[in-house]
Amino acid sequence: MLQIRDLVQVYPGPVTALQGIRLDVGEGLFGLLGPNGAGKSTLMKILAGLLEPTSGSVLLDDDDIVKEPAKVWSRLGYLPQDFGFYPHLDGAAMLEHLLVLKGVRPKQGMKAYAAELLERVNLTAAAKRKVGGYSGGMRQRLGIAQALAGDPRLIIVDEPTAGLDPEERLRFYDLLAELAQGRIVLLSTHIVEDVAVLCPRLAVIRKGRLVAVTTPAEAREKLRDGMFEGFVDPARLDELKRTRRVTQSMLVEGRRRVRLFEPGGAAPEGFERVPATLEDAYLVLQRGEELGERLAAVRTMEGA
Ligand code: ADP
Ligand code: MG
Repeated sequence: MLQIRDLVQVYPGPVTALQGIRLDVGEGLFGLLGPNGAGKSTLMKILAGLLEPTSGSVLLDDDDIVKEPAKVWSRLGYLPQDFGFYPHLDGAAMLEHLLVLKGVRPKQGMKAYAAELLERVNLTAAAKRKVGGYSGGMRQRLGIAQALAGDPRLIIVDEPTAGLDPEERLRFYDLLAELAQGRIVLLSTHIVEDVAVLCPRLAVIRKGRLVAVTTPAEAREKLRDGMFEGFVDPARLDELKRTRRVTQSMLVEGRRRVRLFEPGGAAPEGFERVPATLEDAYLVLQRGEELGERLAAVRTMEGA
């Protein structure tokens, strides 16, 4: 069990990146979903024991990652958002190098262990190819091989699917799902699909605060019977955005398709009720928070 308590991170500036995160994460895949700048990478770095927070604690099976990172390190695997490779090394050499840095001392020897890990992430055929020529998906799998070293209890992956093509993404999903058997895998992402595909539980982060800790089903249930979809004349879009809770407006085959949330109310002319997706739930949550923040700002101004 991973127990995060009252985590606060203030960077010089000052920038408050985390404003008191409290969260329990058990075995399996857990999604941390939020827009850019929400504080995901900051949280991941703290959980990986690489950044000391301003305050708060993180316990992994009762050991404190913040106070004694060295003690917990061997039970952690981390794939950072911006993972650097030496392009001139081949996959096997790169991985061996990373394992040395990580301080892994495999019984069967470094080469044999690296080969075993490469096999695990399906890179055996590419072991002798230069990393510089790897596709995005291959790089991420190499990153996972490194994170997997030492068979960690907790694996942290920060935005691992950004930049992967659809086929690579699907393969990567399979790998993550496999890894989550019997361990804690924390996936940070701004891509709702990652969470919808993989995570039975998720938290939504916004401006350094968790605004929801939920399951995909529960999040969708909150919008039950309230989601509507329709094609609209582009001229009507502004008015709809002003008067309705529009969650999405996108071009589909050249026509403007709008999705909106109308709890308990009547749908606008030409709209039909549709099942809610996790994306809808996420967007309604984000918009709701935005609205709340705007109202609070107005109240503050009026009070001043
Ligand atoms: P995310 O990963 O969700 O995009 P980050 O954790 O990277 O969010 O950033 C959260 C906030 O903290 C942002 O406002 C970002 O600009 C700021 N930030 C991140 N790293 C630093 C740093 N080293 N120094 C100052 N501000 C930072
Ligand atoms: Mg990030």
